[in-house]
Amino acid sequence: MAVGEAGAALEAVTRLEQEFRRRADRGAALPGIWDAFLGLLHRRGYRVSTEAERRDALEEIRQTGAGFDLYDLAEGLARYDTTARECRNAVAYPLFPPLLIFARPCGCGGHERKLT
Ligand SMILES: [Zn+2]
Repeated sequence: MAVGEAGAALEAVTRLEQEFRRRADRGAALPGIWDAFLGLLHRRGYRVSTEAERRDALEEIRQTGAGFDLYDLAEGLARYDTTARECRNAVAYPLFPPLLIFARPCGCGGHERKLT
């Protein structure tokens, strides 16, 4: 599959996340990215005007699973969120709460002790 808009966005957010891991940066927020994500969903035919529509759209994307570009992008954003909160302790609250359904534990291996 060609790298489309979602693929390019995933590459960008993955780069940011890796950069963020390397140096403790104060600027965890990604201004505008949530609106851009919703705009992309809208252009791809999802209804995202209300909270309920957004929840349904994200659940549909989640059920489609890994390999679907919008799933992979949502997971990439959730990974950035996890890195910001759990790994760097840069923010106290989720940056993208609706994307917590895509979140996985931080894979860095640096803070397993927290889980016990
Ligand atoms: Zn970590």
